[in-house]
Amino acid sequence: MTVVYFVVPCYNEEEVLPETIKRLTVKLFKMIDAGKVSKKSRMLFVDDGSKDRTWELIEQFAEENKFVGGVKLSRNRGHQNALLAGLMTAKDKCDCVISLDADLQDDIEVIDQFIEKYNEGCEVVYGVRSSRDKDTAFKRGTAQGYYKFMSMLGVDIVYNHADYRLMGSRALDALSQYKEVNLFLRGIVPLIGFRSDYVYYERNERFAGESKYPLKKMLKFAVDGITSFSVKPLKIISNVGIIICLLSIIFFIYALISFFSGSSVAGWASQMCSIWFLGGLQMLCIGIVGTYVGKIYSEVKARPRFLIDKTVIDEKFGKTPGDIKPCGNDK
Ligand code: UDP
Ligand code: MG
Repeated sequence: MTVVYFVVPCYNEEEVLPETIKRLTVKLFKMIDAGKVSKKSRMLFVDDGSKDRTWELIEQFAEENKFVGGVKLSRNRGHQNALLAGLMTAKDKCDCVISLDADLQDDIEVIDQFIEKYNEGCEVVYGVRSSRDKDTAFKRGTAQGYYKFMSMLGVDIVYNHADYRLMGSRALDALSQYKEVNLFLRGIVPLIGFRSDYVYYERNERFAGESKYPLKKMLKFAVDGITSFSVKPLKIISNVGIIICLLSIIFFIYALISFFSGSSVAGWASQMCSIWFLGGLQMLCIGIVGTYVGKIYSEVKARPRFLIDKTVIDEKFGKTPGDIKPCGNDK
């Protein structure tokens, strides 16, 4: 039966943790009783260098409740890194992992659907918010604008999906091959591929405590998302450079006409032409350098070039590569 681990990153969450652990335990018990998941399923709380009693609480609950485990990071490394730490700790211990926030804003009642989809063969299941009614107009507007902007830049992210998702162990293995330090999991998971599906849910409000994502952190996260996934901004520089160079030719013709018709001051035409042409040329050169920087950027990330979903090669060619016989006409 499916062994599932809930992975919950926590940063200064002493106000919500006892209630969260209680609710998740009830949920897990129900699922175990109904025979949906294995008794070996667990909840893993990652303390992201909290300054309050979060870790003491995790330790205390882990002692009392055998379903609770904890990992403490040496210092605050941010939500995405804390989540990755949890996923990588759980990876070899379970069949699949469900990541969710400590404040239970994500509706835990849809976990059954996550498991159903996993049992149907999905390796990744995305939790998608069905509406954003409860958000402020500002948050809703900026979030939606951001998703649109990202897709314009060619970054494949799931609309209205945060980090509430199920990942099977194969997807987690694949994720472990992405070594990048500027982590933006929402961008990486769709890159992994494999069969995936969506589960829709209503997002609640935080039941206690404050958001650990102030505007400054959110902006950094948004910029990270763009700069970790798209080289389009670099390409835009070359394109603008080319456009300005072309415009400078038109300008050159205009300046020549003005010069010969005597309607310009001496020196104006030559100065304007040089300013435009040199400006465009410099931008184009920066763009060319940018193209190489873009290549270095993707090489340095060393992302896996492919991930294998299935093969049928074992049955046809024997189990080990040594068994594969060369084919051809050499009789
Ligand atoms: N979080 C974390 N490290 C941080 C900031 C946040 O582990 O540096 C966790 C936090 O405890 C919560 C999750 O990330 O479980 C999402 O944060 P929050 O609910 O405050 O964000 P919001 O829902 O307001 O976007
Ligand atoms: Mg929250």
